[in-house]
Order: sequence, then C-alpha cells, then structure tokens
Amino acid sequence: MLNDLTQQPADALLALIKLHNTDPRADKIDLGVGVYRTGEGDTPVFAAIKAAEAKLVAEQDSKAYLGPEGDMGFVEKLMPYIFGKDSPDMGGRIEGMQTPGGTGSLRLALAMIKRAGYRRVIVGKPSWPNHNQICADLGLEVLEFNHAAGGAADMDALRAALASAMEGDAILLHGCCHNPTGIDYTDAQWDEIALLVAQSKVLPVLDLAYQGLGLGMEEDAYGLRRVLVAVPEALVCYSCDKNFGLYRDRTGALYAMAADPADLPRIMSNGHALARANWSQPPDHGAAAVRLVLEDEALTKQWLAELDEMRERMRAVRAKLAAAGRTGGVDLTPIGAQNGLFSIIPFTPEQVQEMRSRHGIYFAASGRINVAGLTMGNIDQFIAAVADVTG
Ligand code: PMP
Repeated sequence: MLNDLTQQPADALLALIKLHNTDPRADKIDLGVGVYRTGEGDTPVFAAIKAAEAKLVAEQDSKAYLGPEGDMGFVEKLMPYIFGKDSPDMGGRIEGMQTPGGTGSLRLALAMIKRAGYRRVIVGKPSWPNHNQICADLGLEVLEFNHAAGGAADMDALRAALASAMEGDAILLHGCCHNPTGIDYTDAQWDEIALLVAQSKVLPVLDLAYQGLGLGMEEDAYGLRRVLVAVPEALVCYSCDKNFGLYRDRTGALYAMAADPADLPRIMSNGHALARANWSQPPDHGAAAVRLVLEDEALTKQWLAELDEMRERMRAVRAKLAAAGRTGGVDLTPIGAQNGLFSIIPFTPEQVQEMRSRHGIYFAASGRINVAGLTMGNIDQFIAAVADVTG
C-alpha cells in the first residue's frame, strides 16, 4: 500500500540551496532562500531575542503542557502591534491562539473556514505557493486573479474577482510585503479593497507574515486594520518568524474577529479542536521569547531598533537597484517602490539558467529574488550580470 504512493516533486527552493552550496565559485550569490541577511550575508539571532532566551533559560520553571492555544501572554502582547493600540481587541471581538509559525496559522484558518462551510478561496496570482498547497490539501477550491500588472497591483482583476464572488467565498490577502512580487496595495487601494470586501460579503483571511519589514510596523498594518473595521468577521494569520528572526522556532498566531463577542468562544473552540487534531500544542520556545521581549520595555525598544535596521538595509538595496534603471533588457526601477524581502525580475527561463551558469547567481525559476541576499559588496556584480544576460 505505501508503495502505491506516487513520487512528489522536490521543493524547488531546497533544490536551489543544494545547487548553490555545491558551486565552487567564491563570488556566488544566493538570492533564493527567503530569510533576511545582513550586509555581511548572515541571518543572526536578534540581540533582543538572545537576551529573552537567556532570561527564559534562567527563569522558566516548567515545561508542562500549556494547551492547544499555546502561550496566551504572547498572543495578547502582539495584539496592539497588529490591531492598533486604541482597540487591540476591537471591543472584545478579537481573540487569538498561538500556532506553529504563519504556516500553522494558515493551516488552521483554512481548515476552520472549510468546517464553517466555505468552499472557495480567492487568491491573487502569483502567491506564496503554500497558500494553494494548503487549500488543495483541504479540498478548498482556489479562484485565482492576477495580482499585479505592469509593476503595480492589478486592481481591475481584484475588482472583477470580488464582483463575481459568491456568499460563501473567502479571499486570502497578503497584509504587506507581498511574496513573491513585493507589490503591495497603496493605502488608497486598501481603502477601496475594504469597501469592496465588505460589499461582496466574502470572508477576508489576512496573511501578515512580514510586519515591519516593508514600511514600518504601523504602516504595514494599515490595510489589515482598514479591512477589519469594514467587515463583521475575519481571520488573521500572523508570523513572527521574519520580524523576530525566529524562522525555525515556528512562531505564529491565528486571530479570529467575530461579529459579536459572544460568538468568539464558539469560533475559537474550533481553532483549539483543529490544533488538537493537527499538532496538539504549538512549540513554546519562540513564542515565550517574543513574550519576554514584549513584556520588557528595553527589550521591545531593542527589537524595534533591530527591525528598523533590517528594513532600512533592504530599502537601501532596493534604492540602489532602482537607481540602475533600465539594465540590459529589464527595468529595475519598480523594485525601489516594492516592499519586503522579495521582488520579481521578468527573466526568461534561459536567463535564470544563465545567471546561474555564467554568473553563479541563484534564485527561483520564477525570477523571484530575495533582495536581502544583496549587499553593497555584491550588488554591482548582480546588476552587471543582469545587464549581461538580458542585454
Ligand atoms: N505567508 C507568507 C506570505 C509567507 O511568505 C510565509 C513564509 N515564507 C508564511 C506565510 C509562513 O511563514 P512561517 O515561516 O512563519 O510559517
């Protein structure tokens, strides 16, 4: 029986890591894997997290089970950052639970909507591939619309998708730092989206995996907050894996907003039951470290300063790429206005191959580059390679 299983395709990004690792060239560049890198090419543990971890080791007196909802102190401490200081629980209408990363949160959110009777999820294309994979695994139909056209969000495609939506559909929106395009909605576009989502009666599922890495913690939450004030119900999938640098510690949260606070315990009981059936309880370490950072004013300040530095470095790389303008056959200018770790350069498959073979520069076949893989030391080499293969 097990032998009847068919071979699944290898993860393309993991295969890319292997290719990069085996390339002997000293000046090779890895723009594939989606992690932040410093100007020295490292992905260090945040100093604020290191300090919190030291405290955790010294002070944690038990590792007994916490329950399927995980560390509720962590869940609640994040809420003012996500939903705003003024009304972090929207008058008692929002409750959350800890999940294994943003992926665990998405898994739970999508399983929950399936249970609630939703059948279709509207998703912009391209998206983070796991959005579609989780929907497929749960038997949710994906309705795709074009996310971007000509370097900007394709609002006509989004309007058309929402206009043809039916009650019982959900829409999955990236809160900020769109993966893979880096093309986010402007504030004015979010104002319209909030209105359209409310009119269409689709359920918004907001994926916020990079808060603070685009324009700032508050700025990156603008769209999410606009949508939440416009609709009766919503789900928010949150990841701390980028903005606290916790990747492998799998740190995230799921929040549900109900029409009425009285509905919340029943809605969340489904999240708890699904967590129990999937992973029972989320891993503690990352969430406990984030909680300790957020409970301590000095550590919070330190974390925010570290996050500012990351964002500013990525903005500097983006500005330098944009300043190169038309490079060979492609225009790098739009990259300056895009946000987060990723942007797509419209390379042909042959050009992606040539970037690898001739220049030792590795990124996904889609042309998605991790801008944090570029440094002031290798960016000129990258721009020259782009000019060479596309010229
Ligand atoms: N959503 C998006 C858009 C992402 O890009 C990612 C991670 N790459 C996630 C969610 C999940 O993040 P995590 O590593 O916390 O599971």
